[in-house]
Amino acid sequence: MRLSGVHKTYPGATQPALRDVSLDIGKNAFFTLLGPSGCGKTTLLRMIAGFETPDSGAVQLDGQSVVGIAPNRRPVNTVFQSYALFPHMTVAQNIAFALDMLDRPRAASATRVAEMVRLLRLEGLEQRRPHQLSGGQQQRVALGRALAPAPQVLLLDEPLSALDLKLRKEMQVELKRLQTETGITFVFVTHDQEEALTMSDQVAVLSGGEIVQVGAPVDIYERPVNRFVAEFIGDANFLPASCVTQDADGPCFRIDGAAPAGSPIRIADSESFTPGAKVVVVVRPERLMLVEEMAQAPLQASVTGAMYSGSDLMLHCELDGGTPLRVRLAGAAHATIPRGRVGLAFAPGAARVFAA
Ligand code: ATP
Repeated sequence: MRLSGVHKTYPGATQPALRDVSLDIGKNAFFTLLGPSGCGKTTLLRMIAGFETPDSGAVQLDGQSVVGIAPNRRPVNTVFQSYALFPHMTVAQNIAFALDMLDRPRAASATRVAEMVRLLRLEGLEQRRPHQLSGGQQQRVALGRALAPAPQVLLLDEPLSALDLKLRKEMQVELKRLQTETGITFVFVTHDQEEALTMSDQVAVLSGGEIVQVGAPVDIYERPVNRFVAEFIGDANFLPASCVTQDADGPCFRIDGAAPAGSPIRIADSESFTPGAKVVVVVRPERLMLVEEMAQAPLQASVTGAMYSGSDLMLHCELDGGTPLRVRLAGAAHATIPRGRVGLAFAPGAARVFAA
């Protein structure tokens, strides 16, 4: 599926909901649209479904434009957050609904419903009505109904947000299994970064109606393209710094308040900066390491607190000048909590630099 230069401003709105959005969504992919509330995720999904028309730009499926084609004529189905099950119909009738709409022969429809019941692990519940099901079971029925006609693309609009945390985690595994088993392209909308990272093959991060970054979860997490992505995805320290030199090997930086005589540090793949430029060094808490030999440490900090959570020990520190810094250590390896001054370091490839 390809979206090219899609633009949309709702009537009466002052800002566009989508600005020049271009995306390639591969076949059989679990593709996630991630971003804060109001960034345009649902609008983009509705554009693919056919419920909204772009002001300009193209939406193509298999190389064919689908703009102007009614939602029910597209090989696309949607699962909504609210499930939208028919309360008076049984589980089997709900799943068969789209097949009946397509006038599938009864026997073929019954076989397909049985397949969906097995796939969604709903055996024994076929004759129940939605109010006799748990939230998770209702969600499975909604998925079964959407998957029954074997669409090319399944759109999922925050389908897990109504479930409690434990069920949500179970359904994340379940959705990934369904996508892999059916080979159908899933386009999943969420504002939950953890959900996006754990389930997706590819993630598109949106902000203010624009695509900010597209990549595999590891690219988005390890190599965010700007401060917004680094802040939105995962936990990160933002350390004010300046560029001190720029030579053939790239720039060197000094982090404000890093160490009394802190030597400048190099950061792999950094773009060029002119000496004196103010920057922000972004480093994830788990990429910081304790350094035994304080004099060798490029960063020195004072420990202000610690939170032990079994698997992790999160040290809360402060650089000279007051910049806060969190360091995530393996809980088991740190039976005694470091106190006072600590020396810290990170590998050159473990940080990113952005203009301040
Ligand atoms: P959320 O996570 O809160 O659902 P979203 O990322 O899905 O948000 P959209 O629902 O696509 O965002 O909305 C994008 C922008 O378009 C928002 O500013 C929203 O207020 C606006 N918008 C959405 N639907 C309409 C509409 N029918 N008429 C006018 N403006 C709309």
